[in-house]
Amino acid sequence: MVLLAALSQTPDERPDAIRVGGRSISGTQLWESASAVADRIRGMDRIAVEATPSLETVVGVVGSLLADVTVVPVPPDAGPMERGHILRDSAAETVLAPADVAAEGGDLPVVPVSLRDRSASRHPEPAGDRPALILYTSGTTGLPKGALLSRRAVAACLDGLADAWSWTPDDLLVHGLPLFHVHGLVLGVLGPLRLGGRLDHVGRPRPEGYAAAGGTLLFGVPTVWSRICADPSAARALRGARLLVSGSSALPVAVFDGLHALTGQRVVERYGMTETLITVSARTDRARVAGTVGWPLPGVETRLADEHGAPVPADGDGMGELLVRGPTLFDGYLNRPDADAAVRPGDGWFRTGDIATIAADGRHRIVGRASVDLIKCGGYRIGAGEVEEALLAHPAVREAAVVGTPDRVLGQQVTAYVVADGATEPELIDFVARQLAVHKRPRRVHFLDALPRNALGKVQKSRLG
Ligand code: ATP
Ligand code: MG
Repeated sequence: MVLLAALSQTPDERPDAIRVGGRSISGTQLWESASAVADRIRGMDRIAVEATPSLETVVGVVGSLLADVTVVPVPPDAGPMERGHILRDSAAETVLAPADVAAEGGDLPVVPVSLRDRSASRHPEPAGDRPALILYTSGTTGLPKGALLSRRAVAACLDGLADAWSWTPDDLLVHGLPLFHVHGLVLGVLGPLRLGGRLDHVGRPRPEGYAAAGGTLLFGVPTVWSRICADPSAARALRGARLLVSGSSALPVAVFDGLHALTGQRVVERYGMTETLITVSARTDRARVAGTVGWPLPGVETRLADEHGAPVPADGDGMGELLVRGPTLFDGYLNRPDADAAVRPGDGWFRTGDIATIAADGRHRIVGRASVDLIKCGGYRIGAGEVEEALLAHPAVREAAVVGTPDRVLGQQVTAYVVADGATEPELIDFVARQLAVHKRPRRVHFLDALPRNALGKVQKSRLG
């Protein structure tokens, strides 16, 4: 099947069709350079790609897809442990790296990628359905797991997003996300190569880069949007955009509201995982509500289940674990049959490990992760996100993360970690108690200089509490 439909059917001849970190190439140049890479690696099974925010990464990924070699992106700033884990676990044989980067392939041979290398003939995409990508989960809850993703699943996800977001070849996509996860790579690079339109990857997700690029479609994670929100002149520059999209973790309501006030835009929030790609999203043709992630993409089904697997009603109140089924799902974890079995209860369903509610009109709300965001306190089930939102409403609180910590009497108690300018613990406890049911107030509030976060800005709650 053809995944890179726009690139291979009607390559964008504009010289700035694909721009990364200020350098750009046309669709045809990309295809020719990628074909040169394909010539050098054909016949391999898996290849690691040093996923620097560069045009070479785009060329390397496309070249691997053309050669039918499974791509394993490696975070360029991964520490030796993470890097060692990914290279060992994936058993990649070779590393693709920009020619000017002194690549640390370790014991592995390095194939340099240079935009000057161009093949005279443009290779077509192979048929068949070998895994296109092995993407590692973000490692928010443990060691990153490799997810095998097919061309078919990636295509289904992108086509679903075209439907939900009215994404067309007229769009200029702008973002600055890392190129080794679903968000930055699958949506942010393969998206335009399948659906058409230009891409401007601004190198790093800085507000001024987003503001200057003049994009119609902008992708960000919540930390990016909150930085833009805190920079009114950058935010106002986005007034002319068509669509702002957020995902990877929950977008605080205050940021949704702040961006609306500054840009006139209501952010479209979408939900997904490395294992399932994007499954649920707000839509351009329906009202967007802060704190909600919308409806399943075409072909995707969802349901809620309690701890025993029994159905939870979709009435807007019932909280349950979200299960998903459909064409965007991965083919399994690499080397982890134990993890595979745990997430597949049968009939094609996948257990996300996330707690959600589904309203009568089908609108989904993500409460958080079953493992860390559902606090069981004296017979109550408290969503950490609700308490985090309540804390963030305090003018002194800049960031908040709430976890359950063991308590002899209550099972767990609500414990908050905040980054704040000047508030006191009793003041914040009282502030939450005035907004929410009294049992939801934190028993303890700890003050930190910064929350522990990973490359996508996700709070690593396992490092708190
Ligand atoms: P690991 O699986 O290694 O612990 P991870 O789950 O963070 O890491 P990803 O696959 O990158 O790895 O992230 C998927 C998770 O991100 C989802 O399970 C969900 O918890 C969270 N997430 C994604 N989008 C949203 C969203 N819009 N709102 C809230 N949470 C989200
Ligand atoms: Mg996960």
